[in-house]
Amino acid sequence: MNTTSFDVLVAGGGPVGWACALAARHALGNTARVAVVERDALPDAKSWTTDKPLSARVYTVAAGNLRWLASQDVVLDPARSATVSEMRVHGRNGAESLHIRATDIGEDELARIIEHEAMTFAIARAAVQAGVLLVCGEGVDVHDGGDVGVEAKLLELADRSLLQARLVIVADGVQSRLRDAAGLVATRHSYPQHGVVANLIAESGHRDTAAQWFLPDGSILALLPLPDIAGASAMSMVWSADPRRAASLCAMADDELLRAINAISGQTIRLRAVAGRPRSFPLNLLRLADPVGKRVLVVGDAAHAMHPLAGQGVNVGLADARCLFDLWSSVAMAADDPGHPLLLARYRRQRYGPTLAMQMTTDGLFRLYNQSEQPLLMAAGDAGMRLLGRVPAFRRTLSTAAMQ
Ligand SMILES: Cc1cc2nc3c(=O)[nH]c(=O)nc-3n(C[C@H](O)[C@H](O)[C@H](O)COP(=O)(O)OP(=O)(O)OC[C@H]3O[C@@H](n4cnc5c(N)ncnc54)[C@H](O)[C@@H]3O)c2cc1C
Repeated sequence: MNTTSFDVLVAGGGPVGWACALAARHALGNTARVAVVERDALPDAKSWTTDKPLSARVYTVAAGNLRWLASQDVVLDPARSATVSEMRVHGRNGAESLHIRATDIGEDELARIIEHEAMTFAIARAAVQAGVLLVCGEGVDVHDGGDVGVEAKLLELADRSLLQARLVIVADGVQSRLRDAAGLVATRHSYPQHGVVANLIAESGHRDTAAQWFLPDGSILALLPLPDIAGASAMSMVWSADPRRAASLCAMADDELLRAINAISGQTIRLRAVAGRPRSFPLNLLRLADPVGKRVLVVGDAAHAMHPLAGQGVNVGLADARCLFDLWSSVAMAADDPGHPLLLARYRRQRYGPTLAMQMTTDGLFRLYNQSEQPLLMAAGDAGMRLLGRVPAFRRTLSTAAMQ
């Protein structure tokens, strides 16, 4: 294989980048030359079978995406993932306003919580086994050009080498440098909140139930089921709070942090220990006017970051990969030219609506519940959610949406 010329070149080996590369190889066939350029080393295959502590960076992956990943030969490690079969949402006064169950729609599972590293590694392993090449390096720029008579794009690496591809997929995360280099302009809004994540040990079993509290100060606490840690039931905390509160949560002694969480969650689930120090990350709403350029496409967080309150960030990125898979599998010209402008135009049309809808939903919910100076509006949100939560058809619609 010519290691400098590809059909599809993915810049950025996070979960979404690897999923796009895997989709390309499976949809376009064994002759397609597909590579991922990643600046960080892939974890060693053996490290997943050891007792490495579970990282606090986890994803809620919807059942629809789990099924698609399985269809692409991705095998997730059950020791680093946990099933979510129910979700309970609590309003400002602590009362439960919504309870959705997978069984409402005849399913066993709404979603699964999966450790970031384990998921990235599982998708990367399937991609490498399918014939995707890993290029270790950092992409620094994107240029027009290519061999004479071939419409292509060039990815420049930090060592000045150039890789040519019919399609460059930019998947280098929310801080994307290559999105800007390709001339695709993003608008970014920083939420006045950071996400604080930590793994916690529970006093009793979590019963595969995720719980979320919209709190009077505008912060949002989510507790998500994790696989057992050292034989004990465990939960992942994602607490979206203003930066000062987020810093103070990160600085708290374990006892103090547990008291703060139990004061909110105690009637539903009590936590008894913290497994590893909490960490926080900034939250953004990031949009691209157009994720498609000439022979270049931006996917994942590089194209559409959103608030984690609905646990949808990585799901929307995986939906990008699924869309590409469907287009490459069904459009005849894709085999010859996976970056053909007509194909990219279809991608743009198919992804625009669903991505915008999910960003508007998460942003709308954030705004509704981040109005501590407008308590009436927040109370109306609580009441509306409680009312709708009593309507079986609404619960079924939500359960189905959560699974896409
Ligand atoms: C610190 C942190 C913690 C988070 N915790 C959570 C959480 O608990 N729950 C949750 O739902 N979401 C969390 N998120 C958000 C979540 O990680 C993203 O939604 C998800 O990772 C998006 O996947 P992606 O593949 O699009 O991008 P990423 O996972 O960001 O992957 C981008 C990849 O590109 C590589 N890269 C970057 N620049 C270059 C370059 N120039 N050349 C080559 N490679 C490059 C990076 O090394 C990385 O591997 C967190 C994000 C951060 C930053």
